[in-house]
Amino acid sequence: MLATRGTDWIWALILMALAVLMATWDIVSMAGNRRAEAEERLDALARVVEARTNHTLQSINALLRDADAELDMSLPPGDQTYHRYLTTRARFEPHALTITVVTLDGNIVHSTNPVLVGQNVGERSYLRYFQTHPQANDLFVAEPVISLLQRTVIFAALPSRDDSGKLRAIMVTALAPSLFSDIVEAALPSEPSGAISVTNSDHTILARAPSTDNSPIGRSLAKVPLRLAHLATGKAASIQEGPGAIDGMTRIIALRTVAPWGLIIGVSATRDDILRPILPRLIGDTFIVILISAFAIALVRMRDNRKRGREIAQEQVAKARDYYMQVLDEMPTLVRRMDDAGQCQYVNATWSTMTGQSLAEAQGQGWLSVIHPEDRANLGNVGEHDYRLVCIDGGDAWIHEVARPLRDPDGTLMGLLASGIDITEARHFQEKLQQSNAELEQFAYVASHDMREPLRMINSYMGLIERRMGTDLSTEIKEFIAFARDGAERMDRLIQDLLQYSRIGRLSAPKAMIDLNVCLAKAQNMLGLAMTEQSATVSACELPTLFASSDDMVRLFQNLIANAIKYHQPGLPPRVVIDARRQTGAWCISVSDNGIGISRDFFDRIFRIFQRLHGRDEHGGGSGIGLSICKKIVESHGGHIWVDSPGPNQGSVFCFTLPA
Ligand code: ADP
Repeated sequence: MLATRGTDWIWALILMALAVLMATWDIVSMAGNRRAEAEERLDALARVVEARTNHTLQSINALLRDADAELDMSLPPGDQTYHRYLTTRARFEPHALTITVVTLDGNIVHSTNPVLVGQNVGERSYLRYFQTHPQANDLFVAEPVISLLQRTVIFAALPSRDDSGKLRAIMVTALAPSLFSDIVEAALPSEPSGAISVTNSDHTILARAPSTDNSPIGRSLAKVPLRLAHLATGKAASIQEGPGAIDGMTRIIALRTVAPWGLIIGVSATRDDILRPILPRLIGDTFIVILISAFAIALVRMRDNRKRGREIAQEQVAKARDYYMQVLDEMPTLVRRMDDAGQCQYVNATWSTMTGQSLAEAQGQGWLSVIHPEDRANLGNVGEHDYRLVCIDGGDAWIHEVARPLRDPDGTLMGLLASGIDITEARHFQEKLQQSNAELEQFAYVASHDMREPLRMINSYMGLIERRMGTDLSTEIKEFIAFARDGAERMDRLIQDLLQYSRIGRLSAPKAMIDLNVCLAKAQNMLGLAMTEQSATVSACELPTLFASSDDMVRLFQNLIANAIKYHQPGLPPRVVIDARRQTGAWCISVSDNGIGISRDFFDRIFRIFQRLHGRDEHGGGSGIGLSICKKIVESHGGHIWVDSPGPNQGSVFCFTLPA
């Protein structure tokens, strides 16, 4: 179970990891695309700036080369012809503010602006440059400086060589810084942090867009890591990433070296700006990851809870099972459980103790070995059985067992569960009782049969005395003889009743399925005379057919109806109503009358033998055995009988049950 729970968590973690992986992949690929697109765009802008710068510098270069070609060093400073040439040529190049020829020691010998001729600019960087790079032949673009005319300019200088290639002068033109700033302004990237810079070959900033309050123009970028990295590539163009030289923010920059002038163009934007568009996607992906993770966790938790619930339920079931097994084991009854194939699955400890047979030995068909061979039939069926169990001491024990079907919660039959109690002692008692009853009944029968003989003798001798003495008998003696004969007759009736009582069950017709309607009809038939005399009526519902002795049933109805007639209220014709109601496992039959009723105090007494509630001559007399016979009949059929009466003169209801 723990392993399953662990597996669930592993699956959940895998799901979460997958979600994170996919989100990361999505973000990384989007960032990659965005970055690649930005790099391409920045580089394209750098190319545009490069092309325009290149074009301008080529035209400046051509201007200075043309001026050099026309230069004659033997001309005096400020020569008018050359001056005219310079001013004319300069008109074709609007970016060139002045064109000046500077000697190697820094004297201006010719200039489009005559006021400059004769002035010394020995400190200018281009002079230093060409002195330190004597072989340099290309245009040198210097840093922005304040010119002699007190304006910020950028000098572009070209070496002038004599025929032998020796440096003779420097051709210089002053360029307005706007030349570069216009180009960079036009190509500014769309990001808010977008920036473009152009530096000369000394890495001094010539122009930067956007312009800021604290203008960086003139600052050197020689030591900026991004630039060093670009130079280290040895390539004309590269993309670098790192802290920006001006604002220190991490920037992605497209750097291009403009050959052959050595200018470097940098077009950049901060990484944050470039990657900002992926922020909503990042938030969305994170949300999805959180959602998936929460879902996975909730799912595992739910399964966990469900499993836990199942485990608890199973634990409870196991506990309950253990408990009931213990109860079964400790029960003083014998318990066995059979499967639907008739194989024993379980016997309890009482079984093992009584038989000496272990559970393993009893399982399957093993249990049959401790059942008396004559009693084995039927024990695999549902119902009640008595059988003999072979005990551990070798003796037999009588067991009364009740076997009930065992069903699973769906109602499918799974076998049976039988519970048995040791009835050996009860059975011995019963056998003894049956034997003594039989003996007693036999004795009563014989005794009563034999007792009638002396009674008959008394009767006949009394008759003989009467006849012999004839008229000699005094009235008193006749009365005595009449008493003696009456006593003998009553004794005879009592003996006959007793005989009838003793015959019940013993000499009754065997039990069979009989129709009670027929029995009732017979009883009514036998009571025909009494009924007519008393104008009695008997009404009955449809009575059932059940397993009983027909003789006994006729006698039962006969006695009850006879009593109903006998104990009627004076002047009120007896009305007898017979009803039958079905109960669980039995029929309840009632015989109601409108007679004198019975006091509650005598409800039990009237069923005892020879118990009467009236004097001998009241209600036509009787021996007080009729209801005892009814009781014996009903009980010998497995039922019971009782009486109910609202009170004197309110009728009685005799009820009895018989198994259905
Ligand atoms: P017996 O009728 O011979 O006296 P029973 O055993 O039949 O004997 O009845 C016992 C007594 O129960 C009767 O003496 C009578 O008092 C009373 N008894 C029986 N049946 C009825 C009845 N239907 N109504 C009133 N009393 C009854």
